[in-house]
Amino acid sequence: MEGTVLRIEQGSLHDGTGLRTVVYLKGCPLRCAWCSTPESQSKSIENGFGQNMTSDEVIDEIEKDSIFYFHSNGGVTISGGEALVQADFTREILKKSKYIGINTALESSFCVPYTEIQKVAPFIDTLFVDVKIFTNELHKKWTGLGNQQILKNIRRFLIEYPNCEVRIRVPVIPGINMDIMELLMTACFVADLDRFVPLELLPYHRYGMHSYELLGKEYPLKDTPAPSPKEMFELADQLARTVPHLPVATLAKTFIY
Ligand code: SF4
Repeated sequence: MEGTVLRIEQGSLHDGTGLRTVVYLKGCPLRCAWCSTPESQSKSIENGFGQNMTSDEVIDEIEKDSIFYFHSNGGVTISGGEALVQADFTREILKKSKYIGINTALESSFCVPYTEIQKVAPFIDTLFVDVKIFTNELHKKWTGLGNQQILKNIRRFLIEYPNCEVRIRVPVIPGINMDIMELLMTACFVADLDRFVPLELLPYHRYGMHSYELLGKEYPLKDTPAPSPKEMFELADQLARTVPHLPVATLAKTFIY
């Protein structure tokens, strides 16, 4: 089976346990104003970004680092764009990885029909899923689509796939969702879920600016500063104090009261 791959990165430490190979796929239904990989949004190859590969070719790349997975408890992470835009291709990669004993993780917005999630769910060890903005209208304003499908998919997935480890992530963006009331609504949603799920706050960054230049697109948040570590710690601390027993992690520190 063939799919469109943006790039494959070896040796990541931030996308699951241990050393990981991250496979970035092309295509995404959202258009987040802060997107750091605008070259991943279109499913087509554009401006030299992306290439068609078979799932076997991707597996060959993943297997090159098998020795490091073994020693570091690492594995493969499928990311995007939104990997589930190519759910059949993602399924093939995850399924083959599991078959040869490689730990699997998926990073997803869950902004897809649940049937696409069902295709890959049996082959995921760890799921990283975003709740980018809790207020539906704000989500629509800043990403192009509402969040009702995402929240519904998260609730259902947690019930139907109890063996998959799940982490919910929030990219914290000044002027968009860096607001304690907005973040508290997300924290309460997470605390209210049917099982224990940690919440991770990720600070907004501007690493994607160069990609916008290469694509000839304007970067909508070019004047938005990244939050400081102090601001991130204070937000995480405040959320954890307000929502009892919810572990809130940011910048390699976890707050729980
Ligand atoms: S979901 Fe991710 S890849 Fe898609 S537009 Fe948003 S930030 Fe970019």
